[in-house]
Amino acid sequence: MFDYLIVGAGFAGSVLAERLAGGSAKKVLICDKRSHIGGNAYDHYNEAGILVHKYGPHIFHTNSREVFDYLSRFTQWRPYQHRVRASVDGQIVPIPINLDTINSLYGLNLTSFEVEDFFKKVAKPCEEIRTSEDVVVSKVGRELYEKFFRNYTRKQWGLDPSELDASVTSRVPTRTNRDDRYFTDTYQSMPLHGYTRMFERMLDHPNIKVLLNCDYREVEKEIPFKEMIYTGPVDSYFDYCYGKLPYRSLEFKHETHDQAVFQSAPVVNYPNEQSYTRVTEFKYLTGQEHNRTSIVYEFPKAEGDPYYPVPRKENAAIYAKYKALANQTRGVTFVGRLATYKYYNMDQIVAQALTTYGKIAGMKRIEAALHSNGNSNGNGHKPDSDPVAISGLAMTAATR
Ligand code: FAD
Ligand code: UDP
Repeated sequence: MFDYLIVGAGFAGSVLAERLAGGSAKKVLICDKRSHIGGNAYDHYNEAGILVHKYGPHIFHTNSREVFDYLSRFTQWRPYQHRVRASVDGQIVPIPINLDTINSLYGLNLTSFEVEDFFKKVAKPCEEIRTSEDVVVSKVGRELYEKFFRNYTRKQWGLDPSELDASVTSRVPTRTNRDDRYFTDTYQSMPLHGYTRMFERMLDHPNIKVLLNCDYREVEKEIPFKEMIYTGPVDSYFDYCYGKLPYRSLEFKHETHDQAVFQSAPVVNYPNEQSYTRVTEFKYLTGQEHNRTSIVYEFPKAEGDPYYPVPRKENAAIYAKYKALANQTRGVTFVGRLATYKYYNMDQIVAQALTTYGKIAGMKRIEAALHSNGNSNGNGHKPDSDPVAISGLAMTAATR
């Protein structure tokens, strides 16, 4: 008899599996309908031997020391500061919009002080910031909004920014200095040997069994277990009884080119002319050295695998009904981006999973992350030294 059946082997499911087994000596069966662990963060070496992210670029960043320390038990890191450019008016310029973006785009030579005045002049303040349009227009005005945000958002979400919560475009700041990093979090690093290797180490415990290519519905009646942790889409669990929750999907077009470098930045966003939103070149993210290079295009779409919950009032109202039902469902805990319908980054999901484990084990999150039942297989703190995993990866000076 398993103590837990965990549905989904992404961050939410894998952290909980590791904690329940490593922290509370529970017997865990974790299943995923995909053929691999890692959920959307899964990475692998493609046919050319280049490490790629199957489901689009995943860059780890967090302000939480707790989350960073917890994951550090399963991976070494490669320090990495992410940078993104946008293709606008025939130029490749920094996004988030910063001093250099404005100077390049308008052929100016403004200082940081002067660009503040520039933004003040063009901004269209609004009384209450409710939508994703309000966020941008109130900071940088309509013209820059239209160049960088309106069409990208329409493509990405199939909705106008005025129909989306402010939280969506609030993810992208505006700067008056020359800082061109996409994130400013305290901890910004990539798992040195990739995400999948990190997940393998998390799940490497005698009390954890992994079942792939398996929808939980195929086994829930066959395999005895006491409790379930569910990390799939919440509406699907309840057979869509309150209607379908919109999840935005993407189609990924992977390519490998016979050249060492494809583009001038790790990610280039295409807000306007193209039907894709962005192009990622993986070697920038992983630090791998190779004479060829692999990239991925992202084409947003309505149908397909669920990737993004869509933050807007109407959807929050539907989710509230599912949440009420979830709260009444004894023996099942709903965790993760799809099950709690939250546009969360990886670190937020790890934090959510650690908090959930803390509740189950009756501990605060910080204790929950560290607690050991004294019977672990020692997977934490084990030096990551598998020569196969690091072949072809050029380690940076900082991690050598
Ligand atoms: P998932 O990773 O979605 O895992 C859920 C798992 O459940 C899936 O593997 C699925 O197959 C499985 N499942 C569902 N239903 C069933 C079923 N019926 N039976 C069995 N298994 C089932 N975050 C960042 O921090 N930085 C980034 O740069 C970043 N980039 C992203 C780029 C893209 C294109 C996307 C889509 C997301 C990105 N994220 C990023 C967010 C990140 O992917 C998520 O926060 C994180 O992966 C969520 O983990 P999860 O375990 O909740 O869900
Ligand atoms: N966004 C945009 N133009 C850009 C970058 C982002 O309009 O060049 C908007 C868009 O709505 C996007 C949101 O800001 O969905 C959040 O961007 P982020 O890069 O965080 O998206 P993610 O990496 O989660 O897909």
